[in-house]
Amino acid sequence: TQTILFASRPKGEPTAAQFTFKTIDVPLPQQGQVLLKALYVSVDPYMRGRMNEGKSYVPPFEVGQPMEGGMVAEVVESQHPKLPVGSVVVGSLPWQEYSLSDGRGLQPIPADQAPLSYYLGLLGMPGITAYFGLLDICQPKAGETVVVSGAAGAVGIVVGQIAKIKGCRVIGIAGSDQKLAYLKELGFDETINYKTTPDIAQALAAAAPNGVDCYFDNVGGTISDAVYNLLNKHARIALCGQISNYNATEAPVGPRPEGKLLVTSSRLQGFIVSDYLPRWPEAMQQLSEWYQQGHLKYQETVTEGFDQLPAAFLGLFHGENTGKAVVKVAEP
Ligand code: NDP
Repeated sequence: TQTILFASRPKGEPTAAQFTFKTIDVPLPQQGQVLLKALYVSVDPYMRGRMNEGKSYVPPFEVGQPMEGGMVAEVVESQHPKLPVGSVVVGSLPWQEYSLSDGRGLQPIPADQAPLSYYLGLLGMPGITAYFGLLDICQPKAGETVVVSGAAGAVGIVVGQIAKIKGCRVIGIAGSDQKLAYLKELGFDETINYKTTPDIAQALAAAAPNGVDCYFDNVGGTISDAVYNLLNKHARIALCGQISNYNATEAPVGPRPEGKLLVTSSRLQGFIVSDYLPRWPEAMQQLSEWYQQGHLKYQETVTEGFDQLPAAFLGLFHGENTGKAVVKVAEP
């Protein structure tokens, strides 16, 4: 079977040089094990952090070892009492077409509720991130103005739609006019293309005449600088991601937001979705309900083929995805 190894740590933006393909043998499962066939593999921005050395909330990838991450896989051979052949699971697995597992950390998923790949997006880690970051940290109230950066991505499209469910005015910031058109379809009130708008601060001020009450930050950098300027009294900011800085080789410098946070009595809180692990079922239940009821829509950018995994990952840093970026490896 094919595997993709983490070949070397990047300096700045990662490239194809960070990955090597290798063919390996996967033995048949022993007692308590399953053989898994990869169906859908997730590529996520947080993986860039794992490519760096040093401590973070997940250990770094090891050079020479397989890449790993979120995956939907099918059990094709089983010596495991709870995971029969034909069951489909989601979990963190090595980037391999086939892999052995003892089942730990794998969640069985139903085949009839939603597309299987949605368990990597809307009904998985990114959707749950949107749910807790918005509802627990931003706590939006009807009539308030919510700004989302990275709005057209896996997390952002869920944040904006939940904010609409809660009766807010929602402004999305993203990197192409096609993405903005999609956000409008989803019900976003205002959208800003940060790549083509000459003065983001001015565009935001026009889109948010009543100021900003909640900011769900996926990107950081100059986009956030513009949002901080418009914070209302008692604004809440969920610091979810900082993708504009992930490839920086030096610590970025910019306007300091602290003064604005102070005078508006705002609350800025970072969070990691795994902080909420015990409450994941609650989020999945509610997201699934909203999806079944038609209140939440979802989109994916699906790349076909195991060999396209590195390219799909690298594409995240060029805005190639709308909604969740996933790689389809095989049919169930
Ligand atoms: P996305 O699906 O949003 O993919 C990344 C997107 O980021 C790209 O499509 C691109 O869209 C945008 N982007 C890339 N480079 C830049 C840049 N330099 N400046 C501004 N935007 C950029 O990813 P996710 O939805 O999975 O993740 C969104 C954010 O949330 C990430 O920062 C991620 O690390 C974070 N995250 C945090 C979690 C947590 O537990 N705290 C959990 C999950 C995600 P565009 O065309 O708009 O530029």
